[in-house]
Order: sequence, then structure tokens, then C-alpha cells
Amino acid sequence: MSSLAVALPSGLPNGLPQPPSDATLATLRRELEREQTELELLGLERSADLQRLSRDCFAYSPVLAPLFEGRHAQLVARPTNVEQVIAVAAACARQQVPLTCRGGGTGNYGQCVPLAGGVVLDLSGLKRLRQLDRTAGVITVEAGALMGDLERQLAPAGRALRLMPSTLRSASIGGFIAGGSVGIGSQRWGILRDPGNLLGLEVVTLEATPRLLNLDAASSEPLNHAYGTNGIITALTLPTTEAIDWVQVVVGFDAWEQALSAAQSVSRWAIELNSVNLLEAPVAAAMPWPAGCPKATGEHRLLLLAHPAAMAVLPARLMQLGGTLLWQEPQSSSKGIPLRELGWNHTTLHWRSANPEWTYLQLLLPQNEGACLVELRRRWGSAIHWHLEGIKQQGSQRLVCLPLIPWQGRERLEQLISDCRELGAFLFNPHVFTVEDGGLGVVDADQVRAKAAYDPGGLLNPGKLRGWQER
Ligand SMILES: Cc1cc2nc3c(=O)[nH]c(=O)nc-3n(C[C@H](O)[C@H](O)[C@H](O)COP(=O)(O)OP(=O)(O)OC[C@H]3O[C@@H](n4cnc5c(N)ncnc54)[C@H](O)[C@@H]3O)c2cc1C
Repeated sequence: MSSLAVALPSGLPNGLPQPPSDATLATLRRELEREQTELELLGLERSADLQRLSRDCFAYSPVLAPLFEGRHAQLVARPTNVEQVIAVAAACARQQVPLTCRGGGTGNYGQCVPLAGGVVLDLSGLKRLRQLDRTAGVITVEAGALMGDLERQLAPAGRALRLMPSTLRSASIGGFIAGGSVGIGSQRWGILRDPGNLLGLEVVTLEATPRLLNLDAASSEPLNHAYGTNGIITALTLPTTEAIDWVQVVVGFDAWEQALSAAQSVSRWAIELNSVNLLEAPVAAAMPWPAGCPKATGEHRLLLLAHPAAMAVLPARLMQLGGTLLWQEPQSSSKGIPLRELGWNHTTLHWRSANPEWTYLQLLLPQNEGACLVELRRRWGSAIHWHLEGIKQQGSQRLVCLPLIPWQGRERLEQLISDCRELGAFLFNPHVFTVEDGGLGVVDADQVRAKAAYDPGGLLNPGKLRGWQER
């Protein structure tokens, strides 16, 4: 196997703790019922709920789905305040029971699947916007708040979240920081882990006497995108941005090369764009377009969320690049599915609703994006359908690619991954379950140190932080 090849996982890690016994769970439950009479607990008598609250959207990966079979919580706790979170953390630490946090359960890699059973802590009841500093635009919000709800709460103050996943209506802000990475707004604000996108965290440790910590921006970094393996996030302090009624713009292109060149060009103009999304013709044809937007009939489509001021130049400029303006509508007056729910992994979702046997990859394309894509298209022909998104990466405008791929077995997927890497693309692998393997591939010592400090018994989301197992 070449050094660029990737072996996809065929099993769960060795050394996972055994799920706790029924007797241990019963003791833990009795303790919690005695101490926290208001805390909702779902046990074996609610087995359908235990299954449901132990899953996320891992079905997008035919590699991961079989690995998670039979992995589920033995007890779900649904706190509505921080005191209850502390009580659950203390009980789990005393009884040595694994605890896995859950927000909206929309992650793609089984991030909130409890591989070693135990307790799932469903944080959706912690959802208050505690504070909005109207001068600085900084908010403190509880972890379980849904981002769509938060957007509605911030709008009257003229503020908006900088970054949101396309799942903003069903995903929590805590789950986004702990499990997400990029999304709507990444064209302007980069990725979640870029310094400045997270200002602080309130965290409960997993110890017999849990601590409630208020971490500043620097100390919060190791918990950002750590899958809840090194602390229970109860609240977050985040910067916001000005609320803008983005104009949704759809432009058609007959030639893929022209469409790609336009997607690269728009990012260099002196206009504000919140999102740049390019769909190859077959993908465009499968999308459920917003009301009033014509259905795709064989053209490639460039989807933009543009500042209203940009509309004075965008249509004419895009026509010069070979595009045809097909539709425009401010987001606020749009009916049906908004354009922002056709991007990121919502493109995959809509495609898979008609083609459930398909899967996908996530790649940061090298800066010579055109050359990489031309070669990939030459090697793989029409077997793959292309979907690109614009992001800012370390100050430069770049394109990431979420290609849609028919599932033809592990070896073929591994071959494609190897080809992408050989051509200079960086893989964020959606077919693995550890923090490291889905990211840069290397252990982040700060994440492991934070786990040692805040979860010394290794009970939080076991099996997901490779650096902890290998230490
Ligand atoms: C159709 C689709 C589109 C998507 N689009 C995007 C996208 O644009 N960008 C993107 O980044 N992701 C995307 N995702 C993945 C996912 O939706 C997001 O990352 C989302 O923000 C996760 O939030 P959640 O509340 O559902 O988290 P969950 O799935 O519940 O949890 C995610 C991880 O965070 C941990 N966690 C949750 N809450 C806490 C907490 N309070 N403290 C500590 N750990 C916690 C969990 O244990 C788990 O490891 C998409 C997924 C789908 C299915």
C-alpha cells in the first residue's frame, strides 16, 4: 500500500471498556433519582428511546454503519440546568460509568454513539441565551440551543452567528463546536477552529466532585472539535456578526470549466459573500430548489449568498464569465427550502434521498484546484459527481469538495482516497470515528492533556480520542 493510501476502519478500537452491568446502572439511577427529583431519566423500559438517542447520521458512511450496530446507551439523562449536569457527571465518575454527550444528534461519523454503552447525556434541555453584549456583539449561550432558534433570538438586535452548519435547524451550538468544523459563513469566517471563532467555554469535568470551569479562548481550544471526549460543555461564549439579509443567487453554466472558474473568481471580488457552492449538473438536477427557482435542466449551478450591495455587479460580471442568472431572492422572503439548505452535507442528504446507496468524501482541494479536478475527472469519469464549497483557509480563499460517490466497496473508496491525496487534496475522512482520523490525522497533545485534566478516568465518549488510547 502506498504512503498516500488510507485503510478504512474494519472494527472498533481494542481496549474499549465493557458496558457497565445492569446492577451498576441501577445504583447510578437510584442515586440520581434521590438527588435530582426533577431530572428526566430514560432507562431500559424506554428501549426505543435509548436506541434513537444513541444514533446520529452515520448512515452516510457504509464503512461506519455496520461498526455501530448494537452500540447504545443504557440510560439517557436529560438535564435542564447545570446543577443536573454536575449531578450526572458526579454519579458517572463514582460508578465508573461512561458518559457520552449529545446535542441534536446530527453528526456524520457516529460522534455521539456511545461505543461502550453507559449514559447518554442529552443536552437539548440546556438552551438559554444567557447574555448578549450589544456593543461587542458577544453572546453566552447554553450548549443545547439550536442554532436556528438562536438566529431568531439574535435577529432583533441585528446580530447573527458567524458560522452555522446546514443542519442549523436541528443541530445544537454545543454539538457544532464539539463535532462540527465548517459551514455557512466559512467563506467569510473560515473554520470553527480558527482563532477568534470561539471565545470561551463553561465546562463540567467528569470527576467524583465535578468542577464547573470557565475557560478563556486559549484554554477552550483543546475542547473545540474534540467530540466531547475532554469535557462537558454547558455554555459557550461566541462572537457574532452583523445580521445581513443575504440575497440568494443561482447562476447556470453550460461548461464545467467556466462554472469552476466563476466560483474561483467571485471570491476575489470586493463583495461580501456568505456562501459559494458549485454543483455539477446531475447534482443540481436532484436538488429541491426554493419556490420560484426554476428546476435544473442539465446546467451546472453556482449558488451564492451575496450581500445586497453585491447585486450591482454580480449578474453582469457572471454573465461575462459565461453564466446565466437563473434566480435571485432575498433569504428573508424566500419560500420553501432556502438555498443554504442545499449546501454542505445537505447536498449529500438531498442526493442520497433518491440514491441511498451513494456516499461521499470531504476534501480540501490543493490551490491548483482546476488541475486536480481535471485529473480526477479524467481518472474517474462520470462515476463521481462534484460538489464544491468556498471557504477561507488561513486568510486565503479555497475550495473544498464533497464529491458524491456510488458505493462500490471499501477497496474502490480507498483507491479514490489515494488518488485524491496523490493529487494534493487533503482528506477530512468521513468514514472514520476518531477525532484524529477525521481531522489532520495526528494526535493533538493539548486535547489529550485536557482529557487527563478534566476526565481522568477516561469515561467521556470512550474510543473517540485516539491519542488517549495510545498514550
Ligand atoms: C445533512 C447534514 C448536513 C451537515 N452539514 C454540516 C455543516 O455544514 N458543517 C458541519 O460542520 N457539520 C455539518 N454536519 C454535521 C453536524 O450536523 C454538525 O456538526 C452539527 O453542528 C452537530 O451538532 P449536533 O447538536 O447535532 O451534535 P451531535 O451530533 O449531538 O454531537 C456532535 C459531537 O459533539 C459532542 N457534543 C454534543 N454536545 C456536547 C456538549 N454539550 N459538550 C461536549 N460535547 C458535546 C457529541 O458527543 C458528539 O461527539 C451535517 C450533518 C448532516 C446530517
